[in-house]
Amino acid sequence: MSEHDVVVAGAGHNALVCAAYLARAGLRVLVLERAPTIGGDTATEEVTLPGFRHDLCASAHTIFQSSPIVRNDELRLGAYGLRYLFPDPGVVMPFADGRSITMFRDRAATVGELARFSRHDARAYEELLADWDAIKDSQNGARYSPPTTASAAIAALEATTKGAEAVRWRYASALDTVRERFADEHVRTFFLWLSLMTMSHVDQPGTGLLALSIAAGRQAFSWTTAEGGSGALPEALARIVRQHGGEVLTGAEVTRVLVEGGRAAGVATADGSEHRARRAVVSSIHVKHLPDVVGREALGETFVRGLARWRTGLTMFVTHYALDAEPRYRLEQGPTASVGAGICESTEDLLAALAAFRRGEVRLERPPLLAVTSSAIDPSRAPAGKHTLKVVGFLPYELRDAGPARWDAVKEEVSGALFEEYLRHVTGLTRKNVLARHVESPLDLERRNPHNYRGSCHGGDQDLAQEGALRPLPGWAGYRLPVRGLYQTGATTHPGASVTGAPGRNCAQVVLEDLGLGLADAIARPEAVRA
Ligand SMILES: Cc1cc2nc3c(=O)[nH]c(=O)nc-3n(C[C@H](O)[C@H](O)[C@H](O)COP(=O)(O)OP(=O)(O)OC[C@H]3O[C@@H](n4cnc5c(N)ncnc54)[C@H](O)[C@@H]3O)c2cc1C
Repeated sequence: MSEHDVVVAGAGHNALVCAAYLARAGLRVLVLERAPTIGGDTATEEVTLPGFRHDLCASAHTIFQSSPIVRNDELRLGAYGLRYLFPDPGVVMPFADGRSITMFRDRAATVGELARFSRHDARAYEELLADWDAIKDSQNGARYSPPTTASAAIAALEATTKGAEAVRWRYASALDTVRERFADEHVRTFFLWLSLMTMSHVDQPGTGLLALSIAAGRQAFSWTTAEGGSGALPEALARIVRQHGGEVLTGAEVTRVLVEGGRAAGVATADGSEHRARRAVVSSIHVKHLPDVVGREALGETFVRGLARWRTGLTMFVTHYALDAEPRYRLEQGPTASVGAGICESTEDLLAALAAFRRGEVRLERPPLLAVTSSAIDPSRAPAGKHTLKVVGFLPYELRDAGPARWDAVKEEVSGALFEEYLRHVTGLTRKNVLARHVESPLDLERRNPHNYRGSCHGGDQDLAQEGALRPLPGWAGYRLPVRGLYQTGATTHPGASVTGAPGRNCAQVVLEDLGLGLADAIARPEAVRA
C-alpha cells in the first residue's frame, strides 16, 4: 500500500498536465498508467522497425500552442526537454486533376496560392483570419477555464467585436461556413477537409467555428511537431511530476476507486495493490467505464443514466509505414515533401464519406485521407535517408451488419486500398519502398487505449463536448464527479479532445481551488524545489 496526496488514474497528456500543476503546487502526486508506456494518444513508439519512431495517434500539437501552458510557459516545458518544430509548408493538398493547394508558413504566400484559384477566395481567406483574430481570445478564454453555462459562453462570443454574427458562425455547420465564404471548389475542399481535423461531422450545425479556428491555427503554427515525437510532451510532463516529488508508474491499471464515507479515498490496481489518496483522486478513465470502476451506487443512478448521452464521434483508421524513400506530393510547383498532407478530391467526396460513416460503411471510393511524415522535418524519427508515414482514414468502428469484430478480418485489405489512393498523389513512391507497416483499425485503437472508447479518438462528438456539454449530466459539475474528492479530466471533459492540455489544466484549477490552493501558486513556484 502507498499513500499520496493525490492519485491520478491514466498518464495521457491531460492527466499528466493536471498532475504537473498539482505537483508544482506542492502536493505529492502518484500517476498510475495501465499501459507499459505513458502518453496515451500522444505516445511515440517503434511499432514498425527499430529506429522508426511513430506517433501512434496525435502528431499535430497545433492547438496546444495557443494554450497558456505554452504561451505563458507556465510549466517550463522547454527545461524538461520539449521542443517544437514548425514545418513549412504547413500542409499541402494535391488534387487528381493536377491542381494543388499549399498552406505556407508565410500568410501572404498562402493568400497568393489561393488567389491562383480565385481572387475572391484569397480575400475571403484574409477575412476569415481577421474574423478569427476578433474572437479567438473569447474562444481560448472559454477553452482554458472550467465550463460556464452555455448561455455565458454564447454571451462572451456576442461581446466580441463580431457580435451576433459570431454567434451565427458558432451555430452554423463548417460546411455552410465554407460554402458561404469560398467560391472555388478546390478551395472549398481544402478548407472543409481542414475543418474535419478534430473529427467532427462538419456537415452538422454547431461545427461552424472549426472552419475558422483550424485554418487560422494551422496558418499561425503550421503542423506543429514535437521534436523526437509526440511522446516528448508526456515525457516532459512526467519529468515535472517526478522533479516535484511525485511518481509515475506504468503497467498499473486502476480497477477500482476506493470510496469510503462517500469520499474517494484512493484506488486499487489490477495487481491488487492499494494506493491511498489523502486529498483527491483524479480520473482520466473513460466516462463510460466509470460505473464499473467507481460503482453505480457511489455515482448515483441519475448520473449513470446520463452517461448514455455520451456519443462517439468520428473514428479513425491508421496505418504506420517505415519507408526507404521520402513521399513527395504532386504539387503544381513540383514534387514537394511535407509533414502534413490532405487527400480529398471534392466537398462531395468528403460528404459522401461522412454519409457512409453514419451508415457504418467502409467507403473506399476516393476516401479523404490525412497523411503525416514527421521525418520530413525531424531526422530523429527515422534512420538516415528513411522516413515515417502515417496514413489516416475516417472510418466507422461499428461496421454495418457485422459490428466492430469484423475489422480484424478486413483491416489489411482496407489499409491497402487507402494506400493505393495515397500513392496516386505522390511521386517516386511505390509499394516497394515500404519496409514495414503497422495497421490500427478503430477497434485496435480502443484495444490499445480504452480511453479511445469504441474507437472514439477525439473524445466524443465535438459539438457536444464543446462548452462543457457534459455538464447537463445530473451530478456533473465541471470536473467534479458526484463522489466527494473524485475528479474527472481528459478528452471526455470540457473542452473535449485534441492535444490542448485544457482539460488537464482546468481540472487542476478546480482541484486546487477545492483544496484551498491556487493555480497561480503552482505556476509561480520556483523550479526543482524538491529536486
Ligand atoms: C489516430 C489519432 C490521431 C490523432 N491526431 C491528433 C493530432 O494530430 N492532433 C491533436 O491535437 N489530436 C489528435 N488526436 C486526438 C488526441 O490525441 C487525443 O484527443 C488526446 O491525446 C487525448 O488525451 P487525453 O490525455 O485526454 O487521453 P489519452 O491520451 O487517451 O490518455 C488516457 C490514458 O489513460 C489510460 N487509462 C485508461 N484507463 C485506465 C485505467 N483504468 N487505469 C490506468 N490508466 C488508464 C490510457 O491507457 C491512456 O494512457 C488524435 C487521435 C487519434 C486516435
